[in-house]
Amino acid sequence: MNLYTIRPPGQAAAISSNDWKFRRRKLPIIGKTRFGNFQSLELTKRNRKIDIAAGVAFNRAPMKKTCLVICSLLVFGCTVEKKPAPPPRQFDPAQFDGKKALFEAVGLVGQGARDGGTPGAEKAANYLAKRLQAAGVAAEIDAFTNMTPRGPRIFRNVIGKLPGDSTNLILVCSHFDTKPGICENFQGANDSGSSSGVLLELARVLAKREKRGPEIQLVFFDGEESLHEYSEIDGFHGSRFYAQKLVEQGRAKNTQMILLDMIGDQNLTVTLSNNNDPKLATMFLQAAEADGSRAHFQLWPYQIGDDHSAFLERGIPAVDIIDFDYGSAPGRNDYWHTLADTTDKLSADSLQIIGRCTIRVLNALVAEDAVKTASANSK
Ligand SMILES: [Zn+2]
Repeated sequence: MNLYTIRPPGQAAAISSNDWKFRRRKLPIIGKTRFGNFQSLELTKRNRKIDIAAGVAFNRAPMKKTCLVICSLLVFGCTVEKKPAPPPRQFDPAQFDGKKALFEAVGLVGQGARDGGTPGAEKAANYLAKRLQAAGVAAEIDAFTNMTPRGPRIFRNVIGKLPGDSTNLILVCSHFDTKPGICENFQGANDSGSSSGVLLELARVLAKREKRGPEIQLVFFDGEESLHEYSEIDGFHGSRFYAQKLVEQGRAKNTQMILLDMIGDQNLTVTLSNNNDPKLATMFLQAAEADGSRAHFQLWPYQIGDDHSAFLERGIPAVDIIDFDYGSAPGRNDYWHTLADTTDKLSADSLQIIGRCTIRVLNALVAEDAVKTASANSK
């Protein structure tokens, strides 16, 4: 026998559910429904009546009958008080695998030199888009023409999109081009293979997210490196183009940006410069603390020009997670932009630390988004 236990305010009863009917009756207004104000619902069984006010709890067995009652309530315009949705699920930092990130970094390096705006970069962009898709993330290649000291070139940003349901946008970014003029088959293993490998492994971890919370984009910039010296027409092509695009789309005020660059060094020390968004920088320090890897993060009393600069200049909070001490001994930086920037210098452990901390920061930003959305909905 299927029994419903109905507990209207002040009384309780157990009734067979077989031939219930619902009907409205005129009573003082006690609530609102999507069909207008409602007073009360009256359940009748034969000549027995029980009033149900909004928010009455139903306990029953089995499940099918509960569904029937709830559906009936909806059909007749009664909505039980709507509960706020729980916040989106958090990502598990332990899912990030440094070895897989290293595999992805080596895979990108294997495509050959990828100097910005060249056929090599186009090949690398296509490769990254395929790897994103293989991880289950929708990928776009956003091509645009920019002037360079050697004339106009076509650059290609690659964007992996993880949709959400709020208007906020979180970017996790890397550049994927190599520094021109080093040697014919320059690897650029740490600069920019390491951060690109981390983004591809993040794609695998984040791919199955529910479509809730802020949209997350994994963005690979073309043309970060300069041909000669950084100027209006040399370097940061992809980031400047993308930051400006967000401004023109009216999304800049809802965007926060995380940049990863040169984070695969075996001797990992992230040098947090003083031109970072303080909140995002603090979030990374807290994430590192929680991860047990705080010793790998240092505050640096200098400024670093990187792809995050174009975002900061446009009022978009941004942080650059970079280890700008990449060499044979502390302070030398002699692997940077030299033949020595090869895959044997990369460490899966370093990639894993950065991947896990990034996931922790993403979790904090998703939680922040849930609070903002709840507060906006309650107004
Ligand atoms: Zn570089």
